[in-house]
Amino acid sequence: MNYAIEELLRPNIVSLIPYSSARSEFCGAAEVFLDANENWRDFVGNKGRNRYPDPRHRALKAKIEEVLHLRCDRLVIGNGSDEIIDLLFRICCVPDRDKVLVMSPTYGAYQVFADINGIAVSDCPLKDDFTVDMSRFQTICDLIDAGSPATGMHKLLFLCSPNNPSGNSIPLKQIEAIATRFKGITVVDEAYHEFSQEPSAVELMDTCPRLVVLRTLSKSWALANARVGMIVAPQRIVEAMEKTKYPYNLSGVVQELAIEALGHSQEVFASVKEIIAQRGMLAEQLQTYSFVEEVFPSDANFLLVRVDEPSKLYRFLLEKKIIVRNRSSVRGCFGCVRITVGSVQENQQLLQALDQWEAQS
Ligand SMILES: *Cc1c(COP(=O)(O)O)cnc(C)c1O
Repeated sequence: MNYAIEELLRPNIVSLIPYSSARSEFCGAAEVFLDANENWRDFVGNKGRNRYPDPRHRALKAKIEEVLHLRCDRLVIGNGSDEIIDLLFRICCVPDRDKVLVMSPTYGAYQVFADINGIAVSDCPLKDDFTVDMSRFQTICDLIDAGSPATGMHKLLFLCSPNNPSGNSIPLKQIEAIATRFKGITVVDEAYHEFSQEPSAVELMDTCPRLVVLRTLSKSWALANARVGMIVAPQRIVEAMEKTKYPYNLSGVVQELAIEALGHSQEVFASVKEIIAQRGMLAEQLQTYSFVEEVFPSDANFLLVRVDEPSKLYRFLLEKKIIVRNRSSVRGCFGCVRITVGSVQENQQLLQALDQWEAQS
């Protein structure tokens, strides 16, 4: 028996009567706004900074629908994907009772937000080549199904595709099989989707009713500073999140900035192409070094590279003022550093430093 979405939400969230702000109660056209105790003056440029922003992010959602082809009415916008991940825990998981499932090594935020919310994390580790261990997954699901819901349910399964830090995608067919087997909500984090050839899991939402997809403007859209993340989800989840989030979770400044960035889609798509080309060039060059054991295939804007003496290499690069991510102590990533694909010039600077490291080691 599969769970209905309703059974996967916390009872206190289902019954929650949300805070109703002045800006959400009134949404028609008016001239005189005396409903929100704002100052009638705007001291910083007459851009309406004295007014509360739209808590429903309607203009931004319309722009996202136009540019990213994600349905307005299935979207919730968060203060970064971080907020969306935290909200998923808050609307679904009962603290000190429910659990979630991850496939390590993966994005560290899932574990951190689980810890903050008092939720235990079960792991179905990826295989050595970072592909999903389907037989282990089946076994874990059998065990989960045999347990009593009263002692805690596995409410969420996090799949990161392309995965951070390994860079590989999970094939869509496999995501479909996983989401069909798992009885809770399958969360597909597509933060790096634009750098991949794999189709989006949004396509599966008709056949997989408990599947949700995360996107962000932090990577390909070059807006990490503004903090804009989003989820595409079934209506019941959208409603639960909209009433649980801070009413004004995105400032007006950020909503306007995001709309502006989405207006630059042609430049963004061109820059994604360039990053993909640089990723190929970097992967090829990295393979020529004797201290490089393996460059893992990447569908993202970074490369995971297994090297001899990763910590020494990390410190050497730091002396050259180049920071990479040392992942060598992460389970499943022994010996690995994660390198973001930079500009042509930054990548050349990295390769020059690595030439020196090769010469002296
Ligand atoms: C970078 C990244 C995000 C984006 O997080 P924001 O809070 O939107 O900046 C989400 N998921 C993964 C796996 C990431 O690597």
